[in-house]
Amino acid sequence: MDKPLILCANDDGFFSKGLRVLADALSTFARVVVVAPESEQSASSHSLTLHRPLRLRRHEPDRYALDGTPADCVYLALHLTGERAVLPRKPDLVISGINRGINLGQDVFYSGTVAAAREGALRNIPAIAASVELKADHNGVVTFDPGPTAEVVAMLAQKLLARERIAGPTPLLNVNLPAGPLKGLVATRLGRRLWSDEVDVRVDPRGRTYFWLGGAGVSHDQAPGTDTAAFDQGLGTVTALSLDLGRDDEPARVLLDALVG
Ligand code: MN
Repeated sequence: MDKPLILCANDDGFFSKGLRVLADALSTFARVVVVAPESEQSASSHSLTLHRPLRLRRHEPDRYALDGTPADCVYLALHLTGERAVLPRKPDLVISGINRGINLGQDVFYSGTVAAAREGALRNIPAIAASVELKADHNGVVTFDPGPTAEVVAMLAQKLLARERIAGPTPLLNVNLPAGPLKGLVATRLGRRLWSDEVDVRVDPRGRTYFWLGGAGVSHDQAPGTDTAAFDQGLGTVTALSLDLGRDDEPARVLLDALVG
């Protein structure tokens, strides 16, 4: 059998350590093609660049940087055909990461890491998004160790590749590991991160007002079974994401009946 083919992307940029470590771990059993943003695109979510040209640069065989978003990278890799193609065929998996910092709960709406994987799942290719917690020591020095997460992702990728295709939605997994020693890996559902939402208003040297979005503090939903609760217990989390955002529950039916029934 041919080697599996895996497309890798991220949102931290082509030169990020997380991407390199991920590609190295997957290369032990697969051909890995990397198409990643040339510059950092964190929190770019699923945006596509439709109003300016995109430039693709090949750094090495199977290693490309694109001056676009994470979703641009996966879109381009999957749909570029002919002599410019970067993939020899449709890949068996799309894997995004390893992100510098966790993507739990509703982070999945903002994360470019998750969006790159989701772009693969939208084309019916099983996909994984992976992130690891950053740790700051008492001097404020931030450390980022993507190695253990890359090992977990490599294990999950091999299991996905070996698995019989079953009916149902295309797998889209969101994986998060704590920075410390891993106490275990558990299946979870999405929890909630409770950010201190703020707009910081400042004034520049010319007297004009500018803004920074987002507060610093965050706490986590502790409901059993959520990724946020499991993460706080030192566990690695694997959450299956859905591409179907539609609601068909009783409150939604009652609401729609009242509005358009
Ligand atoms: Mn990022």
